[in-house]
Amino acid sequence: MAISGRVASGPWFRRIDDWLTGLGETVAPSICMSCGGFAQRGWVCELCFATIRLWDVDWCSRCGIPADHGHARFCRVPLEIRRRKKTVVPAWNEIRALGVYDGILRTGCLTAKKADGSWIARSLAREWWHRHGAWAASLGRCVIVPIPRHWSRRLIEGHDPACSFAAALRAIWAESLGGREVRLVPLLKRTRATPRLAGLDPAERALVVASLFEVKKPKKREYEDDDRVVLVDDICTTGATAIAAAQACRNAGLRNLELAVIARTLEGLG
Ligand SMILES: [Zn+2]
Ligand SMILES: [Zn+2]
Repeated sequence: MAISGRVASGPWFRRIDDWLTGLGETVAPSICMSCGGFAQRGWVCELCFATIRLWDVDWCSRCGIPADHGHARFCRVPLEIRRRKKTVVPAWNEIRALGVYDGILRTGCLTAKKADGSWIARSLAREWWHRHGAWAASLGRCVIVPIPRHWSRRLIEGHDPACSFAAALRAIWAESLGGREVRLVPLLKRTRATPRLAGLDPAERALVVASLFEVKKPKKREYEDDDRVVLVDDICTTGATAIAAAQACRNAGLRNLELAVIARTLEGLG
């Protein structure tokens, strides 16, 4: 991938790269991970893709769940912060998910977790861009920051799906905006491994994620405080991890935050 990334930097070379990619697809056509048919979208076929519940304009841009008009008053993200008796500061400006964590999108996310799953992270990043590219392009100068796994989990699983998704997203983002406006900065460090948060109640969850992330001090600072920071994760379940990551960024002086995820779960949300 490093090679094709380098080749794709110039318009003349990019055409050859596209041509080679096209050739590769002709020689080895992709197979749909759901039905085993021809995958027009690189990872699934159009029919299987149509079964995914994709991000819609009606979804809450704060907590990322399908929501009706009365929802804003009961939105979960500000609510969790309010419970901890802090001033209500929204964790991020907007969350953008590709769709609901279910069916084939769930299978895709689980495949992306495996050691050889970075190809699907690229496919999913492309799908995310189809959905939210216009919004992402409107953000201007951006810093993409993956929400990392703990190093022990990276060691066991071989790679970090959030980091592969972030890298793939940056590649597409930079290509459509022309390079320097978008940077990938692995700014966050997870201080410890955490259990699954979905089963815990809000108080336990708050305890688990308390100061979960540290902001690394980069040798060469590649961003400004007012740069738009796009936090990237593969799955958003309760939102607690993402809130902890957002809090770490805020504490480090970064205030202009967005959250991009592949899938949003609806479990435990009413
Ligand atoms: Zn299919
Ligand atoms: Zn909401």
